[in-house]
Amino acid sequence: MQSDTVKRLAHECGFELAGVARAGPLTGDYALYSTWTAAGMAGEMRYLTDRRAEVRRDPRNLLPGARSVICVGKLYNQPLPERREGHAVFSRYALGRDYHDVLREDLERLAHKLAETAPHEWKICVDTAPLLERSYARQAGLGWIGRNTCLINEPLGSWFFLGELITTLELAPDSPPPDRCGTCTRCIEACPTQAIVPRDGGWTLDSRRCISYLTIELRGAFPEEQRGVLGSHVFGCDICQEVCPWNARAPESSDPAFAPLYDPAPPLEELAALTPQEFRRRFRDTPVMRTKYEGLMRNVSASLQEPCNQMHEQQDA
Ligand code: SF4
Ligand code: SF4
Repeated sequence: MQSDTVKRLAHECGFELAGVARAGPLTGDYALYSTWTAAGMAGEMRYLTDRRAEVRRDPRNLLPGARSVICVGKLYNQPLPERREGHAVFSRYALGRDYHDVLREDLERLAHKLAETAPHEWKICVDTAPLLERSYARQAGLGWIGRNTCLINEPLGSWFFLGELITTLELAPDSPPPDRCGTCTRCIEACPTQAIVPRDGGWTLDSRRCISYLTIELRGAFPEEQRGVLGSHVFGCDICQEVCPWNARAPESSDPAFAPLYDPAPPLEELAALTPQEFRRRFRDTPVMRTKYEGLMRNVSASLQEPCNQMHEQQDA
């Protein structure tokens, strides 16, 4: 099967971006990943550092006999209201349906379409599988990895989700595009927590400082010294993408799955008063469920600069 056919079918399945990488190890990228985790920059994200780290070395650990990794990208960019003082900010990827479900369904359709003409075995990966997905997406020609660590596509920017279909099909691989960050440092300068840090002559993300990590991945109590850094961010942070010049004319997603399912900028005080039932009703089927009620309340209280316990007492009153 020609890789052009794969790309056409991927577009038919709703992916704006598609390309092919070989299903083999990416030694240089894996070495960078290993030194990044060894430096503690993954924070408490154990799924990046436990036995699954070794699986990431080669996609054939996920599908024995794999020959190719079909990498896809799906836009999620949405028009957003103006930011207002005292109103919450949610990362724009979290406004619509949970992307894991959406991309998995579309990749499933793609896998079956391919199987109609070329029988194959496959494995679908969407974010959670131990795979260096940005590295394979770069190899597959979808974009370069910017200083903000996002994959950036020259015409489309970086507001897209990545997914992969690891397959036993032998397909002609694409080539990585050139890095177009040039001398730009906007994301580094705009990051409110200085989370993009120098490393080996380049830049990397220290997750422990990143608002996305702090508001979504970190469990338990919020470190006291970090409480003041959130601003109004209660779930994720998009600043380093918003300032990127390659997103200046980024297109919006036409997929209704990613249209906002809740008010994207509610007053912080309104969120602080949510009950667990209202939380579930408001954020059902969206990525916000990942933090659970307690996590979102912790973030809201940090944004309001209030002790979390005090807020719960107010709710109970
Ligand atoms: S997501 Fe926000 S906090 Fe994290 S690196 Fe980007 S700008 Fe900094
Ligand atoms: S803001 Fe500039 S340096 Fe950062 S990712 Fe975009 S182009 Fe690269």
